[in-house]
Amino acid sequence: MQTSRRYFLIVAASLASTAVLQTGARAVAPELSESDPTAQALGYKSDGANVDTAKYPKHQAGQVCSNCQFYQGKAGDTSGACTVFSGKLVSARGWCSAYMKKP
Ligand code: SF4
Repeated sequence: MQTSRRYFLIVAASLASTAVLQTGARAVAPELSESDPTAQALGYKSDGANVDTAKYPKHQAGQVCSNCQFYQGKAGDTSGACTVFSGKLVSARGWCSAYMKKP
């Protein structure tokens, strides 16, 4: 009797913690991969230093997601949402050809 009650409590606690973890995981958007088809089409790099400047000559030093008008992250965040890549997080140091300087 005592054992089955203990077993029930352990299972209940385990299910509750799993539910909390799943809820937390759903709240965080995944990082945008450079291999994502849309990312590739726009020349996205998670590190702006790796942009193919021969292919994207408009890229200039200092242009990064964190100072792009489409970036939704806060100052100091390492990544944030981008209105161009809905549902994904882009790197604050990233860049893509849709870059537009924040006004
Ligand atoms: Fe970064 Fe701007 Fe391109 Fe979004 S649109 S990935 S914020 S450069």
